[in-house]
Parts: sequence; C-alpha cells; structure tokens
Amino acid sequence: MQISKERCVGCANCTAVCPMGAIYIAADGLAEIDREACVECHNCYRGMSFEHLPPEMVRAGRRLLSQVQLRFQPDPDVCPTEALVPEELEWPRIVRRAFSDPMVTHESTGVHGRGTEEVKTNDITNRIQQGDAGFVVELGRPGIGVYFRDVQTVTKALAAAGAEFEAGNPVTGLMTDPGTGEIREDLHGEKVLSCIVELKAALDEVPGLLEVVEEVAKDFPSVISLGVSTRTDANGEEELQELLRSAGYDTWRAKVNLGMGRATSFPGSGPAGLEEQGVRP
Ligand code: SF4
Ligand code: SF4
Repeated sequence: MQISKERCVGCANCTAVCPMGAIYIAADGLAEIDREACVECHNCYRGMSFEHLPPEMVRAGRRLLSQVQLRFQPDPDVCPTEALVPEELEWPRIVRRAFSDPMVTHESTGVHGRGTEEVKTNDITNRIQQGDAGFVVELGRPGIGVYFRDVQTVTKALAAAGAEFEAGNPVTGLMTDPGTGEIREDLHGEKVLSCIVELKAALDEVPGLLEVVEEVAKDFPSVISLGVSTRTDANGEEELQELLRSAGYDTWRAKVNLGMGRATSFPGSGPAGLEEQGVRP
C-alpha cells in the first residue's frame, strides 16, 4: 500500500484503521506507511470511504481555519482526497497480501485469506480419521504479525518431531521440503498478519508435539494459538481430551463437526468409504 504525498492532507483518519499500526503522520505533516510493518492487508483501503476533494483546496481550508483555532476534519472513516493507493505487488512481497487480506483468494488453495479450511470440512475430506489428531497451529495476530523466518522455526521443530504437514495448506505450499519444515529462503523476511500450520499425527504422538510447541513458544516473538481435533467413534467417544488433560490442558469441545457435509469427490469420503470406517454416512 502507498500513500500519495501529492493527495494526502494529513488528516490522520487512516492511522486508526491499520491493524499493524503501520501508518503514521511524518515530520512533513502527511501520512506515511512503514513498509516493513505493512502486511498488505488492504484494511485501510477497504475500511475507508473516499471523497474526491482537491488536495490544494482542503489544505488551504485547513490552513485558514487553523488561524482561528478551528479545524477542518472529515468524518473519521473518510479519506477526503483519495490518497491511499494500492500497489502492484511482486514476489515475494505479494505473499504478504495472500495471507493477510481476507478478500484475496489464495492461489494454492482457492480459498480466501490465510487460505485454509483447516478441519472444518473433515466430514467431507476425511483428513482426520479415528486414531488421528489434527493440529492447527496459528502463528501471529493483528498488531504483531509474524515473519516466515519465525514460522520456519516452528515448522522445523514440528517436522523433527515427526509431524506430517497437510499438503493442501498454504504454508506447506511455501516449504522447500515438507519433510524438514524448511520454508523458501526468499520469504524469510516477509511478514503476514497471521498464518496457520496444519498437521496430522497419531494420537499417541500428541503429548510429544504439545511439548515441542511449548518449547518453541518460550522464545517465539509473536503469538501462538493451538487447536487439536480428532474424530469420534459412532457413539461420540474419543481419547484426545484425556490425552490433553494428562498433558495439563483444560479442554472442551470448541467446535463439533456433525458430519452433515455432502460427500462428493474426495477419495474415501463417499458413503462406502465412511461405512468402512464405521461411520454412518
Ligand atoms: S485519510 Fe487520506 S488524507 Fe487523511 S492522512 Fe490518511 S491518506 Fe492522508
Ligand atoms: S495495507 Fe494493511 S498493514 Fe498496510 S498500511 Fe494498510 S491497513 Fe496497514
């Protein structure tokens, strides 16, 4: 994102809408964007309304009014002179937007923003079977973001502990080797609002993987959020909660997928595949 110095009048309205605090009023009285902090989420561009007032007229009006201790101030959600300018992004910076702008379809997955459906569609995709645990490790948050070099610290540690990364996940798509969790080097300096690492493991590997995440979290320069899921048997029973409690976590069923999705084209997800696993289609 860029701000046109020719058009900006320094009203500061846009500084409040940036989730990374990347917009500030510089010494010349006009808005600027800290390019390192900006994650190209387009929140400023989408969140503001634009008026098309001539910048010279607005500046002259603001100067005149300031003489008598008054101020011309547009409504708080308005950029009066349409000074915010989206730029054509190139690789590797374009990855910032792919992960941070929820309106952008992620090329690797065909879904928006961070570009993952996680296990929300497990009733159809059958990624997580009985005896499996699905991990969703979310790295970063608005206000702090996360660099891919730090994401790699987590993915390498998880890979070394035997994690199997979800092939359709966008972070996996950025790895040079999913077996080691290494992420393309040209992306290490790119920052995104947040991203989600997904992996699958056997239930008995859960305690070890939790320890890995806790160890990495000690020095992690951003936020780590963790979700673990499993598939119940036909009676709704599962072993995961007991494993998590034994590891010292308070647990509750945050999301329950009732299996009401329509099985279509995923291997093993049709009625016959589900019956084989003892699940009512
Ligand atoms: S809202 Fe527009 S005119 Fe006001 S500071 Fe931001 S870019 Fe400049
Ligand atoms: S694109 Fe997003 S991060 Fe960049 S300045 Fe705008 S709101 Fe802030």
